[in-house]
Amino acid sequence: MEAVILAWDPDRPVWAGSHAAAVRTVQADGLLRQLWAFPSALQPAPELDVWLVILGTRSAMCGLGGHGTVGWVGAVVADATTVQVAVDVDHLLPLGDQVALARLVEHLPELRLEEGVQPVDRGAARTLRRLWAGAAQPERGALEPTPGSLPSRAVRRVLANRYEQDPQLRRTVLALRGSACHACGLDMEQRYGTVARDLVQVHHLTPPGFVDADHEVDPLSDLVPLCGSCHVVAHSRWPDPYSVEEIRLLLREHGFLRGSTLTDSQLMAQADAARLLGPPEGDQRTGR
Ligand SMILES: [Zn+2]
Ligand SMILES: [Zn+2]
Repeated sequence: MEAVILAWDPDRPVWAGSHAAAVRTVQADGLLRQLWAFPSALQPAPELDVWLVILGTRSAMCGLGGHGTVGWVGAVVADATTVQVAVDVDHLLPLGDQVALARLVEHLPELRLEEGVQPVDRGAARTLRRLWAGAAQPERGALEPTPGSLPSRAVRRVLANRYEQDPQLRRTVLALRGSACHACGLDMEQRYGTVARDLVQVHHLTPPGFVDADHEVDPLSDLVPLCGSCHVVAHSRWPDPYSVEEIRLLLREHGFLRGSTLTDSQLMAQADAARLLGPPEGDQRTGR
């Protein structure tokens, strides 16, 4: 057994709230844990890939719509035919975006159209992953593989800084501050063309030591767009990252873009840096 399919009819809802709320939770938290009863004969083990399939009469919302992994398996009670399993859902598509049931059946003729848990062999697991890759779009600019696009043993779960990864915050920051790097002025669209539009990264300025559990991020004062290079440099100091002003100083001290033609926005960023930092002589560092 390479994976399992969990199929259910949404008329018997499995989420505590609505499907849309579950989609938002997975987007924001990266995981949503759900308890299911598995046949104990399947002997599910942690890390097993789980594919979520919606069945039922409303065909527009039926089909392959989510991926997760087994996160925890309850103790097997003697003579029990089922075992409690926690499924960590890591990607859930909004209703209507599913791989249609007809398409699923066409590629997986052995699929049983009934509620419950069914095991999936290696060939079927590969087919599911291929169909899934066509339906589950990664966030633009995401560097991590989309959950489900690789077998679970081929991925490592990483912690992510939610303030820097939240797509909603990111849109707000780019709308407020533009998409040029705030340290070096690089506009990725100007350099790489439209494929790189809005691929700038978002950097969270508050040092980790000042972030409490109830930290409320302010998109205007707490987050800035940084290009990939400047972002790596910012985080190269621990625990307090280099400030934007300090990176500008580094760039200026080391001949920012020497010998190349500067664009207007780069010249503006340089002028900004010069204004903020004052003359290069003397100790004018404004960083923390
Ligand atoms: Zn930069
Ligand atoms: Zn950062």
